[in-house]
Amino acid sequence: MLPNIKTFAWRLLRRALPTGLRAGRFSIHISKTCCRCGQQEDEVHLFFMCSFSRAAWFSSPWFVRSDALVQGHSTLHSVIDVLRMRHLYGSLSNICTLLWCLWKARNDFLFHRAKSLPHQVHIAALALTSNVYDNALLLNQTPTPTQLSSNQIPLPGRTLRSDLLADGAKIYSDAAFRTKKIPGLLQGQVGTGVGIFISLPSNGGEINVQVQASAPPTSTPLQAEALALNFAAYLASQLNIAQPTFLTDCLVLAGAAALGNVSTSETPWSIRKSLASFFKTTYQLQPKVFHISREINDVFCCFYRTLTCLLQERWQ
Ligand SMILES: [Zn+2]
Repeated sequence: MLPNIKTFAWRLLRRALPTGLRAGRFSIHISKTCCRCGQQEDEVHLFFMCSFSRAAWFSSPWFVRSDALVQGHSTLHSVIDVLRMRHLYGSLSNICTLLWCLWKARNDFLFHRAKSLPHQVHIAALALTSNVYDNALLLNQTPTPTQLSSNQIPLPGRTLRSDLLADGAKIYSDAAFRTKKIPGLLQGQVGTGVGIFISLPSNGGEINVQVQASAPPTSTPLQAEALALNFAAYLASQLNIAQPTFLTDCLVLAGAAALGNVSTSETPWSIRKSLASFFKTTYQLQPKVFHISREINDVFCCFYRTLTCLLQERWQ
């Protein structure tokens, strides 16, 4: 990461960036409102809610609805964590570079009246990093079943471009972090929602099993995802499914689970207990774990849509 972007990121996360709202407290000559739309300018507005930022996030290569992304998050840290976990190229460097370019576009407009378009933010980000859009080029080539070959299967823990690439039983897991939609919860209480979808090949067809469960709240979305994977492993062992492929949309979790060992320095401490249990449950099953992106995968997307509907209907 470039030094000025590091400094910017540090100021942003330390809540020290001179947004309109913050700087306006110190001088009546500084406007507290957004120079583009006139709403109060805090970090969430500037980087995620303003129509300019929303257009930038929604365009290639991110395709993120930033207004939806920030819902339910009280800190920027947790928003960035979600992007890092779930987005194919949500590395800290890529995220901070994009945020810095949004900040620069805002300053150019505010101080120099230099108007830029949302997609120009990406051109600036691309110029600053060499790898931001590498994956985006791959994403545009949606695989079809006839094009698939075994050499497209990545190393375990990496991103599987299509679940059609995996043979045998596939087990998808997902978690709803701090959901209120769990039966029996008192008002104001939250819990972790867990959804598992199992696809078993059977005589030319397939058997599908869907399971929804709930658990006590976890501290982070990552822990919730680890809990879901652990539950998926429990079901696989109970059903005696050999050589299952576990699919999660959490890249950090897939990477950690594929290592097969909790004591490596890359494994986050917060999920080591869940992972230890995952390894213990699955050691005889010869599992594989991959990350799969919701955005690029029709089958997975369908499953998620079904799952989200189910979770909402069942737990309302
Ligand atoms: Zn605005």
